[in-house]
This record gives sequence, C-alpha cells and structure tokens, in this order.
Amino acid sequence: MRVLYKKVKLNFWAELVDLLDEKIVKLEGIEKKYGENFVSFFHEFIDKRNVKDLIESFGVPHTEVDVILIDGRPVRFSYIIEDKNMVEIFPKLSENFWQKYSSDKELKLIHLKPKLSLHKKFVCDVHLGKLVKKLRMLGLDVYYKNDLSDEQIINVSKSEKRIILTRDLGLLKRSDVKNGYFVRNVEVNEQVKEVLHKFHLSSEIKFLTRCLECGDKIKKVSKNFVKDKINLRTFRYFDEFYYCSNCEKVFWCGSHYRAMKNFLNNTIGDFKHYFKV
Ligand SMILES: [Zn+2]
Repeated sequence: MRVLYKKVKLNFWAELVDLLDEKIVKLEGIEKKYGENFVSFFHEFIDKRNVKDLIESFGVPHTEVDVILIDGRPVRFSYIIEDKNMVEIFPKLSENFWQKYSSDKELKLIHLKPKLSLHKKFVCDVHLGKLVKKLRMLGLDVYYKNDLSDEQIINVSKSEKRIILTRDLGLLKRSDVKNGYFVRNVEVNEQVKEVLHKFHLSSEIKFLTRCLECGDKIKKVSKNFVKDKINLRTFRYFDEFYYCSNCEKVFWCGSHYRAMKNFLNNTIGDFKHYFKV
C-alpha cells in the first residue's frame, strides 16, 4: 500500500507563538526567534486531518484562533488539509494589522472567533477561584462553583453566552467550546490585569456591586439593617453597607477593597472615576 505523506508549511502568528507546546517545539526543531511576529516551519503527517486538529496538535486551542489562511485563502476549522498547503494561523488582530497585511491583495477574511457581546460575562474553571473573587470585586459578572465539571462549564458558557476563562488547554480544545480564553499568568493580580486588558473591561468596573461569594448583584442597605449581621467593630467603623439577598452576605469597603483600589491605581492607571466609594 502506498503511504501518502503530506508536507505542509505552518506559520503561527503573534501571541499564538507563546502557546506552542514546548515538547513539540523541541521535537520538530522549531525555531522561535525573539522579536519575530511569527514562527514558521514545515510539518509532515500521513493521516486525513482538518485544520483545527492540525493546529491543536501543536498545543494551540482553536478558541485562540481568529483567522486561518490556506495558500492565502481564508478557511474554517473543518477544512481538510492537502499536501503542500501553506497554513497561516492568526489570533485576534487589529484592523490596522490586516490593512497592512493585505495591502496589495484582495482578502475577504473569515473571522472564526465569535463576536463579543457588549456586556461581557465569564465562567471560570475550578482552579481560578482567587481570580473569580477579584473580578467580582470589580463588579464583573462571573459564574463559578468550585465543583464545576468541564461539561457544566461548557453548558453554562453556551446557554448564557459566557466566555470561559481557564488554564486548561485541554478544555479549550474541545470542539463544543466556542468562546474561551487561556489565562496566561499564574499570579492572581497579573491574571486580573491580563483579563481587564484582554477584554477591554476598564469601563465596566463598578466596585461593590457584586457578591464575592455567589456573583449576584448586591444592594446598598441601611446601617440598621446589618446591625445584627456583622461584628460590632465593623459596625462602628463603617457607614456604608451592601447586602446579597441570595446568600445573605454583607459587604463594606474594607481592607480587601482598598487593596484592590490601590492595586488598580498603581498598576493599571487612574481608575478613580470607576469607584463608587
Ligand atoms: Zn451572594
């Protein structure tokens, strides 16, 4: 029987280079050059493969990919790779980039990433509990339970149009995941910065509007209302209180909020006008 090898050339562009699996990079002798905007290499295989599977075999989940060009033509994930294809894989990039890239040729792009709705909502995997609390502190809408299965995460993402935040590349490679993001950083404050930046969330920050425990909206309540729900020191020291009617928790602008406010002011810029308190 004749074995049909296919030899293709791949270009992974921009931030996708960081997601290439280190083991495969070594095995294939892929050279990552510092300062280059893409990594380019040849690859051989024998089976029938669509472009989604080919891309993911190098460690890059399809949720990070926005445009694929085969021999200069845009395709979808189901495209079956042919011998000698030139495969270019791009993350979400600016209009500016595409204008420069396609200045001398007619290029009608197919964007594979779903359009984000104006109100951005998230669902986090079970390992991102610390990040969840900080995002809720900023008033962002984040669904989270510490025992969510992959199936539950995907279902919530689909039914409520939530973006999956995870550090599990395997989860993002599942074909039923449409809207997901691989959180690059490990340290929680860096993760907060990354998510705010990535999804342009600075204008959506509203302190003391969400419950840190369940994510529901909280309401301002009178001092009298919380009198028997908190300790005396807190009651004496603070005047503004907020209450979650779902899990009956009381919140106030204590040290965690002040630390977050300082963190934002020091590291991201002047966020003063987003603070209610
Ligand atoms: Zn609550």
